Amino acid sequence: MDPSLLRREAEAIGGRLTAWRRDLHQHPEIGFQERRTASIVAGELRALGLDVQTGIAETGVVAVLQGERPGCTLMLRWDMDALPIQEAAGAPYASVHPGLMHACGHDGHVAIGLGVAQVLSSHRSEVRGCVKLLFQPGEEGLGGAERMIAAGVLENPVPDAALGVHLWNVRPVGWFGIADGPVMAGAELLEIEILGQGGHGAAPQQATDPVVAAAQVVSALQTIVSRNLDPRATAVVSVTQIHAGETFNVIPDRAVLRGTIRTFEPEIRQMVMRRVTEVTAGIAAALGCTARVRLTPLTPPVVNDPAVSAKVRAAARGLFPDAVVDESERSMVSEDMAFFLQAVPGCFSLVGSADRERGQGPAHHNSQFDFDEAVLPRAVALLAAATIDLLSEA
Ligand SMILES: [Zn+2]
Ligand SMILES: [Zn+2]
Repeated sequence: MDPSLLRREAEAIGGRLTAWRRDLHQHPEIGFQERRTASIVAGELRALGLDVQTGIAETGVVAVLQGERPGCTLMLRWDMDALPIQEAAGAPYASVHPGLMHACGHDGHVAIGLGVAQVLSSHRSEVRGCVKLLFQPGEEGLGGAERMIAAGVLENPVPDAALGVHLWNVRPVGWFGIADGPVMAGAELLEIEILGQGGHGAAPQQATDPVVAAAQVVSALQTIVSRNLDPRATAVVSVTQIHAGETFNVIPDRAVLRGTIRTFEPEIRQMVMRRVTEVTAGIAAALGCTARVRLTPLTPPVVNDPAVSAKVRAAARGLFPDAVVDESERSMVSEDMAFFLQAVPGCFSLVGSADRERGQGPAHHNSQFDFDEAVLPRAVALLAAATIDLLSEA
């Protein structure tokens, strides 16, 4: 398959990609309510003659594109949900729904997915096997991937490999992050309850103060990354919420802390979780309190298969000889593509989407978020080329 042909075809539908993206951006829908989005997706895929199923895990859409020659099955996954953020960017295509915004770029992902479906449809004679297109609801911490898997999307046909992308606004258009191994961190929810004995704010000697214990726990937890972790390794321990007390002159009975742990490797994850529990219990005991620590796994790390990633990198270099293909970019953010890649070998690529002149765009999940739409045809070309190559070499 000639890469320059695919690149030209993707560029030729650039206007449609932008139109889809802007329409979706104007009409953001929160996880599991992506009804309008899903009906646009299903309509476009049916118009291409694909076999389309809707209503999977509420609003998910799955379509199968059958190539003209027998072969393996490759899965492409896109997420569709927006965030509960009031948009402040002021673009002509800004959200018309107050308090809802596509601030992560999933509007772009859906447009890219439709573009890939269109390009691959016109190359069925070159597609070996089949391409399973998955449009997933509820990626933003809502469990969309797990619900899609529970609904059976990894069966009938079973994918042999899986690909996905995320627009990446910390890098400019023309940059691709395609690494081997863990590329996005696993996340746990951390909840700590510190129990003391309340009393008068003016008589601390009669109380056991959980607020003072909570303050010391927050500080001591920072020593896990700075003192227990190998300095060459990576982890995050963030306490993001502290709740205690109702008024100024009463020492409360309890303090509640919440936060998150991010790690890439299972051994580091185990060590950090063990130390969080030990440090919290030790500090609380030293100050006469008791502590309960609860750690809830949210998302495993996104782990790329080296063989699949190598093929995606080759596709990127073949299409864009001037591109920067970064093999080392990793992020502490988590992504539920992880659940698909636990089951199927694959590659999740980051695609630079910031303005080429400025090199840096507004942050994901920020009310000013927007990306350079020049990324859309590039991402379409990358996924279409990688899909054809992976299926033909399988
Ligand atoms: Zn997000
Ligand atoms: Zn996202």
